[in-house]
Amino acid sequence: MELREAPTPRRAGPHDVLLQVDTLGVCGSDIHYYRQGRIGPQVAPFPLILGHELAATVLEVGTEAKSLHSGQRVAVDPLVSCGECDQCRAGRKHTCRHQKFLGNPGQLPGALVEYLVMPAACCSPVPDSLNDDQAAVVEPLSIGVYAAQMAQLTPGARVGVVGSGPIGLCTLLAVRALTQAPVYVTDLVDERLAVARACGATWTGNPRREDVVAAIQRLEPLGLDAVFECAGEQDALDQGLNLLKPGGALLVIGIPEVDRVSFNINLLRRNELRILNVRRQNECVERAVELIASGRVDVRPLVTHHFRLEETARAFELVSARTDGVVKAIIRISPER
Ligand SMILES: [Zn+2]
Ligand SMILES: [Zn+2]
Repeated sequence: MELREAPTPRRAGPHDVLLQVDTLGVCGSDIHYYRQGRIGPQVAPFPLILGHELAATVLEVGTEAKSLHSGQRVAVDPLVSCGECDQCRAGRKHTCRHQKFLGNPGQLPGALVEYLVMPAACCSPVPDSLNDDQAAVVEPLSIGVYAAQMAQLTPGARVGVVGSGPIGLCTLLAVRALTQAPVYVTDLVDERLAVARACGATWTGNPRREDVVAAIQRLEPLGLDAVFECAGEQDALDQGLNLLKPGGALLVIGIPEVDRVSFNINLLRRNELRILNVRRQNECVERAVELIASGRVDVRPLVTHHFRLEETARAFELVSARTDGVVKAIIRISPER
């Protein structure tokens, strides 16, 4: 990880805006590229500029980008879709056939830069009541909102979150804001469980110290309606399936380091369990902004560490090592206003 001069951003087209990046959150997927140089078949050619969880200020607007104005603070949806393929036409721009995602190899350079051009359609204004840390957490929160919506939880539902890193915590926050469901949360790191309790977890447990499946089953003998797997680990997938009641749903959000995982087919078949895969999010950025602005979601417990741009390598080392109680590390890029 090193600091280099980057090319001047291309000129903003009529539907684009030129952004000054204010803050950037380090994401678990950035760490996959940092540690392994790939996520599945997506292999990083170096040098690669990472980063996609950003808060920014609009510097210039294209002639057709009338919804935004210079000086406006925005949260950014890092996915640029084509608007024309079958997926876009079906309202599934997150699985667009020609999608370009910030900081993804072969797609777009990432947002760990001072200046960035994005389509205005990717930018959602944030009110001044949100600070730059909160605005940078909008993107991961939008994934939690999308996942919580996909679970279609009904009144009386009981929920599990296996793995309480930033995405697990954002899912917990979204479920707690959108439903009355009690949420049972597990993680291997005790500090993350403390953050989960601050974010509204009903119960927390560490599988290094106890049989979390048995402990949750004692409290919820009928099983859970939905479990969000946010660890990307085989053990977590197994725990998730074992926690579900018949007809329950496992929502897979975590990104495993391996290409193949396995499921107990007898458990799946006998209990008619459903497996739903969550691919980032779709149209949930504005909802995430509203949830923070209205006070229904408090993302502040997630932001544990701050770094300057010159300290980016340290930020990545810390998030990669998961030490010092790190949950979300935020890198300050523009001078603080
Ligand atoms: Zn991310
Ligand atoms: Zn498309």
